[in-house]
Amino acid sequence: MTPLDKLIAYFEKFPGIGGRQAKRFAFHILTLKREQVEELAGLITSLQTSVAECSECRRFFSPSYKQSGNVCQICADEKRDRTKLIIVSRDTDIQAIERSGVYDGLYFVLGGTVPLLGNPDTSARLRTPAFRALIMERLENGLAEVIFAFAVNPDGENTGRYIENVLCEIPGTSGLKISALGRGLSTGSELEYADSETIKSALKNRS
Ligand SMILES: [Zn+2]
Repeated sequence: MTPLDKLIAYFEKFPGIGGRQAKRFAFHILTLKREQVEELAGLITSLQTSVAECSECRRFFSPSYKQSGNVCQICADEKRDRTKLIIVSRDTDIQAIERSGVYDGLYFVLGGTVPLLGNPDTSARLRTPAFRALIMERLENGLAEVIFAFAVNPDGENTGRYIENVLCEIPGTSGLKISALGRGLSTGSELEYADSETIKSALKNRS
């Protein structure tokens, strides 16, 4: 395999990127100036050391110099409402909800979805044990509502059912309110691409 083929193979594994797009990315890199390529390569190399995974919500963030520990700015914010927890599949979903500016609770990033059809092993890659541990800790600190914010499609709904089962197995969750953003979002829509107004109304009309 040539370096070009290898690079194309890497891009093909990126979420939402097909073979044609992967080729276009690789050929685009060939047109860049040497300094640009060096900067890009450096950014990719440094990403894992300059970004940390939050020990609470599990999203990736850039720790600031005044920060201690592995907790992101959202989870560390004392003003956020700790009785509410939104569970999303990806980091980018948090960005979409934060942009809407109406949610003041906390988050958890599951790290994927549970496909309705397909390999049941995919749930092994999700952060279920970390989710369980977080729920148990938050229950002792006043957690009252868990809000599902998954895509409105069969996989998103299946992920909701999966999480509901996980919650059922945790002692002390019977009084917990479980809601979903579903109603405000149209069928098939991914949270990541929803505009702020749509997310606002989805949050308001959650049930
Ligand atoms: Zn966090």
